[in-house]
Amino acid sequence: MQRAFKVTLIPNHNQSVLINKTIGCARFVYNRFLAIRKELYSTEQKTLNYNACSQQLTLLKKELAWLKIVDKFALQNSLKNLEIAYKNFFADLKKAKKKKSVGFPKFKKKYGCKQSYKTNFTNGNIQIIENRLKLPKLGWVKFHKSEQITGKLVNVTVTLTSSGSYTASILCETEIEKYPQATQNIGLDLGIKSYLVTSSGEVVDNPKYYQSQKRKLRKAHKKLARSAKGSKNRVKAKIKLARIYQCITNLRDDFLHKLSTRLIKENSIICIEDLRVANMMRNHKLALSLNDASWSKFVTMLEYKALWHDRIVQKVGTFYPSSQTCNHCGFINPLVKELKLREWSCPSCSSYNLRDHNAALNILGEGLRIFTAAVGMPDAINACGELVNPEVIQVEIVEAGITRLMVV
Ligand SMILES: [Zn+2]
Repeated sequence: MQRAFKVTLIPNHNQSVLINKTIGCARFVYNRFLAIRKELYSTEQKTLNYNACSQQLTLLKKELAWLKIVDKFALQNSLKNLEIAYKNFFADLKKAKKKKSVGFPKFKKKYGCKQSYKTNFTNGNIQIIENRLKLPKLGWVKFHKSEQITGKLVNVTVTLTSSGSYTASILCETEIEKYPQATQNIGLDLGIKSYLVTSSGEVVDNPKYYQSQKRKLRKAHKKLARSAKGSKNRVKAKIKLARIYQCITNLRDDFLHKLSTRLIKENSIICIEDLRVANMMRNHKLALSLNDASWSKFVTMLEYKALWHDRIVQKVGTFYPSSQTCNHCGFINPLVKELKLREWSCPSCSSYNLRDHNAALNILGEGLRIFTAAVGMPDAINACGELVNPEVIQVEIVEAGITRLMVV
């Protein structure tokens, strides 16, 4: 399994100059060949594939000596990225969709784009000893070490962040030690008031990191707006602002990682609502809170960690009325559509329901129903949507993507 380790680099002056040059050269190669390909197509209706580009790059290097100073893999990967951009564009064009999501490859700008380059591992050109990382042309670069980097090196992406620091994402082919089998299953109701409520009744508070840093952000934005264009103070203000945003992201990622790891460790099947975040973002009143909650990021983390540890993340359709259905009798109460209604008594069976907990229980039931039906064992759940014998039925992943229930 491939896993990326992200570290913050501490390059010396010469190294940071060379990193900036490499990023610049990689961008130059990308833009140059995009221009060549566009030109060739408009004049001769021909296309230039990766191999042809690669040959031309060798010629170009003889012409422009400064391209030889930097890591050759960075330039090759630029060409590969361009090839992928073209392929994605044409693949999307072939699909019978009205709205195209992938645009034609664009020129990369010096500012405002992601500033990075990728280098590949061959014959020990990349090495890690303690807190030092050896990279082609750069030599040994120190980095802040937070965890053990294990596995076979694949590639490294060096990025200049908007706050002016350098990071490296080190991709390794690594064996992941799987968590022991869990017997519990869980349903999650994601929300804004509390981050999530589980079917077992646990409430996880929403940390709202963006909200908590609002004052600082406003001050930094003000300072940036009032600084003169092109001045040194403007550069400083920009970095300061980027650092606050970086800090918010770091805090949030830490929270999401801890939460998703714990849920994966404790549970076998995790049922969640398939949220259409993009649709919900259209509601401007909700957009900020949604952005702060980063649900998509959380779900992505759950999904890839589930793959690592043989767990199942089962999504429940958006239109399933998880909040309105009474978990005890299945009565659908349309009054619960009102978001303000936090708790209600069922008109049919008069049981008392807490909104989010009730929804989480329903999501668990519906998720298990979908899952057991999909693996061809619909009898494994009873009429209430619970596994008939939760202790003896466990999930086994036979191959990636193929799952079955197993009786142990
Ligand atoms: Zn009821």
